Amino acid sequence: MNGSTYDFWLLDLDGTLVDIEQSYIYQVFDGVGEQLGTTFTNREAELLWYGIGDARGDLLVEKGIDQTQFWDVFHEVEQPETRADATYLYDDASSFVPELDGPVGVVTHCQEYLTAPVLDALDIDDWFDTVVCCTDETGWKPDPAPVEQAMRDLGVAHNGHVGVLVGDDPQDIGAAHNAGLDSIHVKRRVYENLDQELRDDGQFSSMGADKRITSLQEL
Ligand SMILES: [Mg+2]
Repeated sequence: MNGSTYDFWLLDLDGTLVDIEQSYIYQVFDGVGEQLGTTFTNREAELLWYGIGDARGDLLVEKGIDQTQFWDVFHEVEQPETRADATYLYDDASSFVPELDGPVGVVTHCQEYLTAPVLDALDIDDWFDTVVCCTDETGWKPDPAPVEQAMRDLGVAHNGHVGVLVGDDPQDIGAAHNAGLDSIHVKRRVYENLDQELRDDGQFSSMGADKRITSLQEL
């Protein structure tokens, strides 16, 4: 497979092209916990940050935290400058993405007020022909709607173009399939603090990606 295999490429952002210093995650959840009058262990912070499968929702229920209130506080605590400072670009992304033929888009759950400063700080905003930040209006992966939005932006929707979505989460793979695209799962982390079933024996191995890789260099 190489950059010309597909007519267009859609990419998830966090955990796929960029990632965050681990200490930042704990710092954010110290702040979130303070505001919600609770505390989070490192394991809980990672579970909530990465939100694998239903793990995030289950933990919030277990701790008696209202989802809406959680996201309100979370977005209040996360500041664009500190998020951008703590974000780094994967080396294989910097050699892979600029070489791709055809239009390239991002479909991310990262909110616009954070995504724009991150792309700017890493100086990669010109890599992408469209960036779709999911909202309640666009829908959230695995809903195909934000993926279809990106395809419309790129002019490749429903006109015979063959595309792929690359992501690190089951939600990415589901969104690709729901939108009729090929899917590539990039697995970069071991999730050492998470339960084995959330790491690899459960949804990650059975989510049905068309291809699994550990580095974009494999493409
Ligand atoms: Mg991701």
